[in-house]
Amino acid sequence: MGTVLAVQANYYQVRLVPSPLALHSSPLLLCTRRARLKKLGQQVMVGDRVEIVEPDWAGGRGAIASVLPRKSQLDRPPVANAEQILLVFALEEPPLDPYQLSRFLVKAESTGLDVRLCLNKSDLLTIEQQQQWHNRLEQWGYQPVFVSVRQGNGISEVRDLLKLRISAMAGPSGVGKSSLINALVPTVNLRTSEVSGKLSRGRHTTRHVELFTLPDGGLLADTPGFNQPDLNYHPHELVNFFPEARQRLTQQTCQFSDCLHRDEPNCAVRGDWERYEHYLAFLEDAIAHQEQIDQQA
Ligand code: GDP
Ligand code: ZN
Repeated sequence: MGTVLAVQANYYQVRLVPSPLALHSSPLLLCTRRARLKKLGQQVMVGDRVEIVEPDWAGGRGAIASVLPRKSQLDRPPVANAEQILLVFALEEPPLDPYQLSRFLVKAESTGLDVRLCLNKSDLLTIEQQQQWHNRLEQWGYQPVFVSVRQGNGISEVRDLLKLRISAMAGPSGVGKSSLINALVPTVNLRTSEVSGKLSRGRHTTRHVELFTLPDGGLLADTPGFNQPDLNYHPHELVNFFPEARQRLTQQTCQFSDCLHRDEPNCAVRGDWERYEHYLAFLEDAIAHQEQIDQQA
């Protein structure tokens, strides 16, 4: 058994490991996909657990004979078996925009995976300013990790979050994602094989995905396709992507089961919480999106 770490055209870089998490010491094979899988249209993506046949140890080659059922699947970009999304934002340069952050959080929540928030460039804020953000985001239902890649602060907390899990990193450009990956992943690991060597040319310009092996065990995907979140879900689902609204609904239910939490009477969600404004704005987007789909149907 192995875990797919990188994909390029019809080649798959697979680390042979008994458990889903790659260890540096286990062998890497450059694999092709068996014809039967191609015929079935079975896609192979990074994070997939695969069965390897005909290993050629000397040549470092093998073939993928089957793909195990996935525990989760992200489609854009394709990542299998991720457990959580590590959302990275900067506190300054660029200044943290609550609306943009909310958009990314909602998009991340819509995957159904656990969502972790990492706020970088803490060196540019005072402790008081960081505390204010902490309190504010706690109201949103998150416990952000404050990081300064520049000063090396908070990196060990991020390591702990990522330990023994498959995680996908997301966030706007310029917030320090590449810097964070460089701080988390030993350089020897960044370019480990022929396939990742080929892939690495212009890691920041192409849209391929690669899983980096973390020293404490754990895999991290850089997910470029996640940079411009489009919010395409059903309007009725939206409320579930706000932890603080979910919390309200555990205490009280709305009078109408199809409540969109706008102006319906006896709504448990509508009320005095900061992101309710964001909820209403995203709801308009989701309704417009749904109308488009209905028209096409
Ligand atoms: P990415 O686009 O998200 O991959 O961001 P980069 O890693 O390329 O970083 C964008 C800019 O932010 C670079 O100029 C980095 O030097 C800078 N940067 C990264 N981390 C920090 C930090 O902790 N503090 C400060 N002040 N700047 C940082
Ligand atoms: Zn309601």
